[in-house]
Amino acid sequence: MLKVCKFGGTSMADAAAIRKIKDIIGADAARKYIVVSAPGKRNKDDIKITDTLYACYRDLEEKGNCKARFALIRERFLGIVKDLGLSLNFDEILDRTEAEITEKKSADFTASRGEYLAARLVAEYLGFEFVDAEDMIRFDSHGRLNDEYTDDKVKTRLKKVEKAVIPGFYGRDYEGKVKTFSRGGSDITGSVIARGVSADLYENWTDVSGFLVCDPRIVPEAKTIRQITYKELRELSYMGASVLHAEAIFPVMKGKIPINIKNTFKPEDAGTMIVPNEQYKAVGDDVITGIAGKKNFTVIFIEKSMMNSEVGFVRRVLSVIEHHGLCIEHVPSGIDTLSIVLESEQLQNGVLTDIVNEIRENVSPDYVHVIENISLIATVGHGMARRRGTAATLFTALAKAGINITMIDQGSSELNIIIGVANADYEKCIRAIYDAFIGAQK
Ligand code: ASP
Repeated sequence: MLKVCKFGGTSMADAAAIRKIKDIIGADAARKYIVVSAPGKRNKDDIKITDTLYACYRDLEEKGNCKARFALIRERFLGIVKDLGLSLNFDEILDRTEAEITEKKSADFTASRGEYLAARLVAEYLGFEFVDAEDMIRFDSHGRLNDEYTDDKVKTRLKKVEKAVIPGFYGRDYEGKVKTFSRGGSDITGSVIARGVSADLYENWTDVSGFLVCDPRIVPEAKTIRQITYKELRELSYMGASVLHAEAIFPVMKGKIPINIKNTFKPEDAGTMIVPNEQYKAVGDDVITGIAGKKNFTVIFIEKSMMNSEVGFVRRVLSVIEHHGLCIEHVPSGIDTLSIVLESEQLQNGVLTDIVNEIRENVSPDYVHVIENISLIATVGHGMARRRGTAATLFTALAKAGINITMIDQGSSELNIIIGVANADYEKCIRAIYDAFIGAQK
């Protein structure tokens, strides 16, 4: 059994949290490769090391040095080293890091040092080897992860090392310069390492006991999702559920390696297992897995009789959006109707009016109507495909709650029903769906 463990910013925030990491690693000999984030917030008003590093870079650009700001980084790390009673000469490592940051003047390099320093510290504390991510993770000339190269490097580099600590969040670009993933990217590092070493499990240790069925600010008693497939998770994270970086599932998906989201502060909790379809074992009678949503969409509703017999109609409508360089969220359609759902933020400063006018010119519709302030809510669960009456339960619940549905989109996978409702009904809608499917089980 081989496990790769990634510990997030809260698990790295102070000495007390890092001691918990040691207990967790010590409790299971299979936990051999450890990926760490930079220390995160200790309380809600605190500042993440990564944010302080980005501020260091801005100081460098504006004032030519980042001495005062780097002193905060120094103080934070030295505090942890002292509290853990490490004999490592961290001052020297920090001096070198500060000099490199000043010399390289690169935002990515500067930001990456939080993970670098964190991994050096944890490697010393656990007595594991430090293996630098920049020697294994490579991006291509488009800034995308170079899968093949990285996979190969991870495999060969870690073959020689029994237990290692690896910094998250960064690798090297095609020219050999340090480059970071997007924010929260240590989750991707963990996934890449898990695939490279063909781990049996990727444990992602964070400060919550897994994914909740829906936002606890709306449903305080929301249950934890025990098991979810990669695909279901894709749908939920696309719609805003954020515990894991949305791109972190791709590397492990290829290797069919399950991910277990675990809580560093409650290691006894089972957490959420993210598994490939074929490893999913139905527990109980769950029909839906999760509910997620986002506010602020705009729907452009187009009606034209016989549009289905007009060759190129949809393409001409969509080309208007493409010319404006915008992304489309959904395109639900009927016999004589077509709706385009877009994020409202993209339609500011007259863009919406231009688009509507161009659609009128391009396809001469009978009617165009714009509905603004729409929320999209996705009800996800592969249990829905097996079950008759799921849609009826959903729509009856919303009707009872007095919620008007402006749009319905059910993907062909039957994994997901997406509805559009007024922003003002967003919370009420999630509550109603939760009560209809999950609350009813009580
Ligand atoms: N430390 C980085 C961030 O704050 C990366 C990570 O934590 O995954 O985004």
